Amino acid sequence: MAWAPSPTPDPDETIARLAKVRGEIAEAAQRYERDPAAIHLVAVSKTFAAEALEPLFQQGQRVFGENRVQEAQGKWPVLRELYPDLELHLIGPLQSNKAEDAIALFDVIETVDRIKIAKVLKKAEDKLGVKRSFFVQVNTGDETQKAGVTPAEAVAFVRACRDEIGLNIAGLMCIPPADEVAAPHFALLRQLAEEAGVSGLSMGMSGDFDTAIMLGASHVRVGSAILGSRAAEQSQPPE
Ligand SMILES: *Cc1c(COP(=O)(O)O)cnc(C)c1O
Repeated sequence: MAWAPSPTPDPDETIARLAKVRGEIAEAAQRYERDPAAIHLVAVSKTFAAEALEPLFQQGQRVFGENRVQEAQGKWPVLRELYPDLELHLIGPLQSNKAEDAIALFDVIETVDRIKIAKVLKKAEDKLGVKRSFFVQVNTGDETQKAGVTPAEAVAFVRACRDEIGLNIAGLMCIPPADEVAAPHFALLRQLAEEAGVSGLSMGMSGDFDTAIMLGASHVRVGSAILGSRAAEQSQPPE
């Protein structure tokens, strides 16, 4: 196996944690006067084996996020047969040589951040005869090591992807710097989305989805708050 799965948590615990997260999202929606139907929970299932996700399927969870194409390929095709209404999001960095596999497997690719990859994705869509949804990843903290377009180039990049290349750009996505308060990054992402004329905002993880909902998130990507802590994530080789 190319990836080491995290230990499968107790199913009752998973169910309880999912209920808690759903409750917190509903409360946040109410508190911030947001339409709850406009906030989508992406359950981040990376490193967990399919059996760990059973309780989530049972509870009606259908939107999932994975960060590696190869890991997802080993896990999801069989689950798609069982749950045809799944919506799979790629939330990790994408290499050109995996673009066609990604288009084949994922409904939504959240990490578009280079013109070259945007063109390769469009080509793969045309070849496979499908249309997917995409988010542009913005490196809101201007971190040198992090994926994403800079805030300064985000609006022009969205326009190029949408108007010249022809991708369906649903919104923007960000992962704020781990050591900073998230709110200013979420606010910046929202402002850039308004300028670019896209409505989707994928922002907020286990530790900060409440703040993200306050600031307009359409998609929150929540992993450990639902499935517990992940094992051996760092030991996974890069693709
Ligand atoms: C792993 C991951 C998440 C989920 O993180 P948690 O803190 O476990 O909720 C969200 N977004 C991205 C891009 C991730 O890689």
